[in-house]
Amino acid sequence: MTFSQFLKRLRDARLSRFDRAAFALLIAFAVVLAGKGWLDAHPEHNPWAPLDLRDPMGWATDRKIAALRDDVAECRAVLERSDVEFAALSPAGEGSCARPDRTVVDGLPLSPATPPTTCAVAAAFEMWLRRSVEPAAETILESPIARIEHYGAFSCRRMYDRDDAPWSEHATGNAIDIAGFVLEDGRRVTVLGDWDGEGDEARFLREIRDGACKPFGTVLSPDYNAAHRDHFHLDQAARGFGGVCR
Ligand SMILES: [Zn+2]
Repeated sequence: MTFSQFLKRLRDARLSRFDRAAFALLIAFAVVLAGKGWLDAHPEHNPWAPLDLRDPMGWATDRKIAALRDDVAECRAVLERSDVEFAALSPAGEGSCARPDRTVVDGLPLSPATPPTTCAVAAAFEMWLRRSVEPAAETILESPIARIEHYGAFSCRRMYDRDDAPWSEHATGNAIDIAGFVLEDGRRVTVLGDWDGEGDEARFLREIRDGACKPFGTVLSPDYNAAHRDHFHLDQAARGFGGVCR
């Protein structure tokens, strides 16, 4: 019996109103159960599942990571749950450059050495590295990453160093600027030198720029403006309508 035959038979059967209601309820219950089973198997799509940075990036990932920027305790719990070793440094700075949350993840391939950032930036960076940068390096460039070159995280300044501009996310260590990648086979891929073009290096950079947009609130690349021609700016500012990703 096909499904349409089944439906026809159901229509022809003289079901009471109560039978129909009970049947509809049964179907609804089955759909809910199937949905729950699917969500249990895909925590990255489940808004209620605890965030684990080792999970793939899914529909619920950006909302869950965004919630960490105002909740340092929960953010550190996420790092622990995800088996990420880190140090919480003592607060520093004052005023617009006060940094109550200075988190340093151990063992990252950053060069110079990993700078303290907010926990939310550290968590997003961890997920970006594991779920975007490393897989893209393996599949597109066919080499693991040896080093990631950066221009720093903390800088007590306003945006674009203009006196009338809002404070930069760098002023609180809530951002990091990524300039290039050194592969284990010795190649060096830089935003400045390799963004333009059709080659694998350009494809890799575009892939990981897009990959940063779920975990980070703001992603600015050479596509955004000339000030970002040589680095990706990644930060955890409050996300506007979907955040900025360019
Ligand atoms: Zn920046």
